[in-house]
Amino acid sequence: MGINAPRSKKLLIALLVAVLAAAGIFLILTQKEYSLDFMAMDTYDSVKVSGLEAKAAAEKAREITENLDVNVLSRHSEKSLIYALNRDGKAKIPTEYSQYFNTMTGAFYESGGAFDFTLGKISDLWGIGTDNERVPEEDEIKAALDKAGADKAVFDGGTFTVPEGLSVDMGAAGKGIALDEIRKAYGSMLVRRAVVSLGGSILLYGKGDFTVGIQTPGGSGYMAVLNLKQCCVSTSGSYERYFEKDGVRYHHILDPETGYPADSGLVSVTVVSDSGTLSDILSTACFVLGLENGKALCEKFGCEAVFIDIENTVHVTDGIKDKLEITDDTYRIEESR
Ligand code: ADP
Ligand code: MG
Repeated sequence: MGINAPRSKKLLIALLVAVLAAAGIFLILTQKEYSLDFMAMDTYDSVKVSGLEAKAAAEKAREITENLDVNVLSRHSEKSLIYALNRDGKAKIPTEYSQYFNTMTGAFYESGGAFDFTLGKISDLWGIGTDNERVPEEDEIKAALDKAGADKAVFDGGTFTVPEGLSVDMGAAGKGIALDEIRKAYGSMLVRRAVVSLGGSILLYGKGDFTVGIQTPGGSGYMAVLNLKQCCVSTSGSYERYFEKDGVRYHHILDPETGYPADSGLVSVTVVSDSGTLSDILSTACFVLGLENGKALCEKFGCEAVFIDIENTVHVTDGIKDKLEITDDTYRIEESR
């Protein structure tokens, strides 16, 4: 026995090494990648996942987005919570979603009303992106503006109450909310890395570096790239949805003060944040506010941003200055002042 002991120990170690190697090879061979494209939330969506549960995770992203769209956030789906809220003036918000409604309310006040989730009626008047696009009459806009205003909505943590005639519209926050829900789900799945893009809002999930392109405003392809760790990135731009009438371009991001498309000297704003909801909300709010006030708002929320103005000048917040590379030389970066 005593003489055999070292030998059996060696054997055991060899066996252990073999088992570990086999497990390693198994893991490498079973690391899968999976991609999925779909349409939800009125936009094109795509998911790319790697990891043992790649396929299930990609399908989960679609399921979460579609469910949120149809059953919770859409103001056109008769099954949705927001539809019921707009119809009845009151809706119970499930606890799992209450943080998002708190964030939206906070962002309304912090942005001085630039982000306002009650512009549904005014969006309907303009009908941008639908068959009913038109420039509304001034008195129509005024009447719709009188009914709007997130200060008229009350969320007590459980129930949302809005006055008759007010239309809650989640268009500027919904994709970000979906990204936060997807990230939460991935926390308990075997996901190594994922890139989930819902229209202009993107979740980068997992270890290591990611490269994200910033779309060329009004053009095809990208004019810059951002090199980032995991986070959420959201872009709002005037080139995304618009129509032209008598040589004037009318786009879908509205200035809640005027009821007309925001005209702050910017063509696109990209916001980087750990929170999908915040990145989505703030990209819209910053677009309305313009460069200086937009920068101040991002600072308040601890977010970083890239602003592109109508003169093709790119302005970047300090925290991501060294993460941005301009790839299209018709754009120039603003020199530090
Ligand atoms: P997209 O949905 O194209 O990614 P945004 O995230 O900027 O763009 O959201 C724009 C949508 O949000 C509009 O289509 C409209 O439904 C709504 N919206 C427009 N202006 C505002 C605003 N100032 N505050 C909040 N929501 C807005
Ligand atoms: Mg948005």
